[in-house]
Amino acid sequence: MERLSLRILLGLLVGAVLAALLGPAAIEWRWLAEPLGTIFLRLLLSLVLPLAVSALVLAVAELQPGALVGTGGRILALTLVLTSIAVGIGVALVELVKPGVGVDRATLPAGGAVTPATTDAVQAIIDLFPSNPFKAAADGNMVPILVFAVVAGLALRRTDTAAAHRLAEVVRGVFDVCAQGVQMVMTLAPVGVGATAYMAVAKGGLTALVPVANFALVAALALGIQTFVVYPIALRLLARTDPVAFFRAVRPALAVAFATASSAATLPTTLRVADEGLRLQPETARFVLTVGASANQNGTALYEGVAILFICQLYGVDLSLGQQAVVVGVSVLAGIGTAGVPAASIPVIAAVVGAFGVPPEAVAVLVGVDRVLDMCRTTVNVAGDLVIARIVGGERA
Ligand code: ASP
Repeated sequence: MERLSLRILLGLLVGAVLAALLGPAAIEWRWLAEPLGTIFLRLLLSLVLPLAVSALVLAVAELQPGALVGTGGRILALTLVLTSIAVGIGVALVELVKPGVGVDRATLPAGGAVTPATTDAVQAIIDLFPSNPFKAAADGNMVPILVFAVVAGLALRRTDTAAAHRLAEVVRGVFDVCAQGVQMVMTLAPVGVGATAYMAVAKGGLTALVPVANFALVAALALGIQTFVVYPIALRLLARTDPVAFFRAVRPALAVAFATASSAATLPTTLRVADEGLRLQPETARFVLTVGASANQNGTALYEGVAILFICQLYGVDLSLGQQAVVVGVSVLAGIGTAGVPAASIPVIAAVVGAFGVPPEAVAVLVGVDRVLDMCRTTVNVAGDLVIARIVGGERA
């Protein structure tokens, strides 16, 4: 396993064990552990808004409308179907196992406080559109900001002036810097995660970690089903291909995806295995894989659905069937909109749980296990891209 993830897991373990060994005296070290954990988290959260907004503006601005015709239509359909199946599996499992139910909310980030979300569906739809995006941003209302970003991206795409092109460059710069910022903050994760685990155990005992472990198991199981059941069936039915031979050929790309936790960073290897291992038609494969590296994120969508429902369970937010359907829909779209870089899911999850009245700080509960699961979901993302490339692309003569 990659070094950083090992260190984060070690941090989690050390923090939890230390607090357990100290017993009731553990809380006396709150003056140290709480700032360490909270500052780490705030560093991460401070990047959420610019990262999510710039990623979305660029994704929309750079969508190729022409690409959606013909092959593009098949790719889009396959992306939506495979992503929906992935989210469906994840959501079904998390609702079945309910890893977040019955937790003492006082031990959770932000004291477990929930702001009642509006229950009026009409008002909820109206509220998606901010009259003042800066006010919405200052109030921490993420979803309206994301809607604003989509509109801004559409307008940017239609504006063909030198200044608009420069603006797009600036937005790309914001994205690049924030993505780099996330990497920098993540190097502090072993300490931040250790301190968060310490505080969780100091307040709630070792049992405080059980829900997170169960969540990680549910997410890993769902990702496994997508990879080892859904993909082989899709390959057999839609591409008449032997799944074992397929997975053998794409192994190098899956290994790089696992190690880097970034579909974007894996792209060169993904392209190479499509060409050399699978021997796919180069033009189609290149197109599918390049778009797929940021738009077809089955593993990410699955993970985001599971994480959103898990956090809602933790905070005692009971979602109706309709609201769960909304989570599925949002996760499918979020899977398409999430950037192919490490930890890109975290801001998306923070934004969506915020819409249900849960404080965005709640994502802190995931951070300890996120890196390992990121490696797993990125592997699924890349495998999904290659499955679609194999179905649409066809082998070279
Ligand atoms: N790391 C993922 C990827 O690059 C995105 C995420 O879910 O965080 O595919």
